[in-house]
Amino acid sequence: MEVYRSLKTLQEDLYNKKITATALTQQSISNILAQKELNAFVTVFEESALASAKKIDEKLQSNQPLGRLFGLTIAIKDNIVYKNHIATGASKILSGFISPYSATVVEKLLAEDAIIIGSTNCDEFAMGGSNENSYYGAVKNPVDTKRVSGGSSGGSAVAVAANLCLAALGSDTGGSIRQPASFCGIVGLKPTYGRVSRYGLMAYGSSFDQIGTFTHTIEDAALILEVIAGADAYDATCSPRAIPSYSNNISSNKKYKISYYKNAIEHAGVDKEVSAATLQCIERLKSEGHQVDAIAFDELDYIVPAYYVLTTAEASSNLSRYDGVKFGYHAKEATDLESTYKLTRSQGFGKEVQRRIMSGAFVLSAGYYDAYYSKAQKVRRIVAEKTYNTLEEYDFILCPTAPTPAYKIGEVQDSIASFLGDIFTVQANIAGIPGISLPLYTTSNGLPIGIQLMAGRWQEEKLLAFANALM
Ligand code: GLN
Repeated sequence: MEVYRSLKTLQEDLYNKKITATALTQQSISNILAQKELNAFVTVFEESALASAKKIDEKLQSNQPLGRLFGLTIAIKDNIVYKNHIATGASKILSGFISPYSATVVEKLLAEDAIIIGSTNCDEFAMGGSNENSYYGAVKNPVDTKRVSGGSSGGSAVAVAANLCLAALGSDTGGSIRQPASFCGIVGLKPTYGRVSRYGLMAYGSSFDQIGTFTHTIEDAALILEVIAGADAYDATCSPRAIPSYSNNISSNKKYKISYYKNAIEHAGVDKEVSAATLQCIERLKSEGHQVDAIAFDELDYIVPAYYVLTTAEASSNLSRYDGVKFGYHAKEATDLESTYKLTRSQGFGKEVQRRIMSGAFVLSAGYYDAYYSKAQKVRRIVAEKTYNTLEEYDFILCPTAPTPAYKIGEVQDSIASFLGDIFTVQANIAGIPGISLPLYTTSNGLPIGIQLMAGRWQEEKLLAFANALM
């Protein structure tokens, strides 16, 4: 069977009866099984995926109207819930948990005839940048299986990059869509905070979390965003503003004003080939008639610390619900309430999650609140305002998505070193703006290098159109 990399081609073939949705789904499932060593999936939803496919084939047979995503094989990150399906956030504490309800994004995908093929591996509760913090083990990068997929949505990135399905959803709190997309050589889109409902997404840092897409093309990212965006009575932070027709407006030959941070590209931690690729992109844009200016970003060194203070604080509160009482893992040797909490949480959470809950509780504790949490809030405000001001003057901010290409599994041992990998991605979450990673370059040994574009809040339309022109 042909390997599809665009929904339009696939839908044409479905219409022309060259393939059936059932065959497509079977192919996707057998590819997932054949590539099991990549460790991209946690659960394959064989029964419900084949049922969705059958419904599509019947509609095609009888010329009934089809949803906009008909035939799209799509995976969802294991922290997005789907009614009557297992969702664990790649944590032992939720092993075997079957969700009693579906996330809004899941309902929206199904209403448009997408085929949800399975749930993908990720860092436990989306905490990490390499997918090595998963209860199910690391996800392997299909470009070089000795290397990490990136994270935390590593399984989603690999599912698409290795053509196990056509698209995937992930969540991005500080880069978890854009960074694995960059490591695996595909497109990763994090929308504006509040563009897509978070109802049914396991909360990590609620004021940062946003669901977004992994695809091969901008066109598919635009169409899926159009479907999953929009107001939701179950998520008060989700905006009621109208959803532009992203997918109909993805060609642009406009000349834009783009800014980039010189100190970021020249930063000591940035790989030479990544800097060179970014500079090459800047030269290309200039030669195509865009205005590209270097600007200063003096707060660069503060954004990662502020991000970790704030997100761990939010996580320490969000993760208090996993207590061994209401649902999920329960430590059997517990004898009373206190030992239930202690044993369940010590045994059920992995090291990184425990570390973050403890740091979060610490920065929120009475004696340290002002020194850490309040201060980080102030940094957030300053960085956000500066970002909005820059994006009043410029259409886009351009930078590498990650300071390095994918590294070897096991190579980065220390959390602090891995936190620095988020230096270019957290700004978009701190300010709540959209960002996209584009697979534009590779290193001399063939590893993907993603270039990131950020735009002002609610400017996905312009962002996608410009991204498409660059691809
Ligand atoms: N690497 C970042 C972290 O560990 C980002 C994670 C994310 O976006 N979910 O928090």
